[in-house]
Amino acid sequence: MRTLEPGGEQDFVIVTQHHKGPVVDAVFAETLGVRVTELHADTDQLGTFDGEIPRRDSPLATAVAKAQLGRNLGVARVLASEGTFSPHPGMPWITVNSEIIVALTDDLPSPVVGSAVSFDTVVVSRDVGVLDNVDEMASQAQFPDHSVLVKSMGVEPARVIKGINDADSLRRALTEICRWSPSGRARVESDLRAHHSRSRRLVIADAARDLARRLATPCPTCRLVGWGVSDSVRGAPCVDCGSATTAIRGEQWQCPHCHSTSTHVDAARTGDPSTCLRCNP
Ligand SMILES: [Zn+2]
Ligand SMILES: [Zn+2]
Repeated sequence: MRTLEPGGEQDFVIVTQHHKGPVVDAVFAETLGVRVTELHADTDQLGTFDGEIPRRDSPLATAVAKAQLGRNLGVARVLASEGTFSPHPGMPWITVNSEIIVALTDDLPSPVVGSAVSFDTVVVSRDVGVLDNVDEMASQAQFPDHSVLVKSMGVEPARVIKGINDADSLRRALTEICRWSPSGRARVESDLRAHHSRSRRLVIADAARDLARRLATPCPTCRLVGWGVSDSVRGAPCVDCGSATTAIRGEQWQCPHCHSTSTHVDAARTGDPSTCLRCNP
């Protein structure tokens, strides 16, 4: 583990093993005028994407635990991020990539959390044999901006080759791993570590932008920064009959420190009759 001395008092350090620093640094430099340097720590002890080490806590608790690694080393302003990938509840063929990034600092009592969600992160997952069409898979996986890992099937412990981002390396990895699998086939999955997925880095940047906005916004009650949207408010009036629908009419804002809230409703918003219980029971 190595500590980088940040240059300015307002600068942050991000605890990461997978080079998230440049992504968040670019956003924070542009929006807050502060820099972000990396603190390399063994964050894999808190869980990995490929399931080799299961994640025990929620993404938020895991991100806070990562940031705490930095705070324990005496760093004043620490960031850590955490991502999850899950099937869309209504459309399971779509993968939902959620990213959160937390800030823990010595002058704020609670973590401030930024988040972003995307349906566009490149995710592939297929069982393949040595003779399958590797070029087609390479184009689906979007090499070289994205990588895949190749995993043996039906043997414990599984053999895994990670960080593959060109067709020749994929061919070589398949030859090696398929030899190990009793079925002669292997599992090819996107390598979703941040430095191996450009589309995931874009979502991390969005989450960092959300966090930067909160870090620039003081709570109207306690004056500490972190004030931001915590939830959406439903009940926009039906365009046909005027009753409350399930459509969004505004947002709830909340302070992570004193927990005061305020509701912002857009009076111009209306709900489609399809979301109205009276018109469409
Ligand atoms: Zn407050
Ligand atoms: Zn209605």
